[in-house]
Amino acid sequence: MRLGIVVPCYNEEAVLAETAKRLIELLNRMIEKGKISPDSMVYFVNDGSKDRTWEIIEAQSAASKLIGGINLSRNQGHQHALLGGLFTAKGDALVSIDADLQDDVNVIEEMVDRYHEGCDIVYGVRKQRETDTRFKKLTAEGFYKLMLWMGVDIVYNHADYRLMSRRAVEELKGYKEVNLFLRGIVPLLGFKTANVYYDRAERFAGESKYPLKKMLAFAWNGITSFSTVPLKLITILGFIIFLTTLMATGWVFLVWAVLDSAIPGWASTVLPIFFFGGVQILSIGVIGEYLGKVYSETKARPRFIIERVLEHDDSPPARTRKSAEANHKSREKTNEHHR
Ligand code: UDP
Ligand code: MG
Repeated sequence: MRLGIVVPCYNEEAVLAETAKRLIELLNRMIEKGKISPDSMVYFVNDGSKDRTWEIIEAQSAASKLIGGINLSRNQGHQHALLGGLFTAKGDALVSIDADLQDDVNVIEEMVDRYHEGCDIVYGVRKQRETDTRFKKLTAEGFYKLMLWMGVDIVYNHADYRLMSRRAVEELKGYKEVNLFLRGIVPLLGFKTANVYYDRAERFAGESKYPLKKMLAFAWNGITSFSTVPLKLITILGFIIFLTTLMATGWVFLVWAVLDSAIPGWASTVLPIFFFGGVQILSIGVIGEYLGKVYSETKARPRFIIERVLEHDDSPPARTRKSAEANHKSREKTNEHHR
């Protein structure tokens, strides 16, 4: 089994040498044990770094045949760099991991074991977040909970550290969205999956490339690319205001008829404001519902993926790894999705 390890790198000159060293050690160990074939490789994806990252990748690649490099034309962001790596790298299974050694590289061996047991996707899941700051911990966990609440199926405490089999990667090509949130898409692929657990360490060197602003943008992208719940909330809000107005109208009527202490002009001024406010928000919500439909239609995601086909005839080999639709094109034109 040929393994490819994809490592997106943006201004990572401080950690690259160490990362390469550890990954080479790991690959050699697994090759010795016969778990992976000797043509397995690490692919460093240079995501338009402004420092010496690419030079280091070139040097590493010249020094070891286990190291390869993919140079992107400019900075495309973590998710796109990852995708570029996954769609370019060769291997029966591909592992994606960050360059900063926060994720324990040794669990890759466990991932490969799960692969040999028949899993197509293996998620690396963090055991604890002791090394993160309290703020990062709170925001990150809040984010996972919010996503689950909004109906986005993501693996709790899993970042982009995972193994995917060749066919899972091929199926991923059917998801053509530009606003890429891989953590949300990979679970949609289905297939047999497993989790492996590890302790997340501190960044080996250098600084986080995800400052708060990027983190918020990432979270927002995750929600708006996967969920139309925010649109539904508008409908609900409009409906609540509308109902409240109706009840207020009843109360105003009571004050006027029974208590006889109505202030002239109050009802005719205040009630219409709320009434029309409610009607307008409700209407925007209804438009939102349709917009939500358009939104999922324009995504044109594959509607199903076939895991296996059992056949008993002599025709050419069973197409066990192809979904019935959507993927033929992406196989013919493998470069189309590098948008
Ligand atoms: N990264 C990238 N392009 C970017 C930003 C980040 O390829 O525009 C890479 C970065 O080099 C690292 C990974 O994405 O390998 C995760 O970034 P980082 O460790 O800074 O994020 P954090 O762990 O702090 O969330
Ligand atoms: Mg990191």
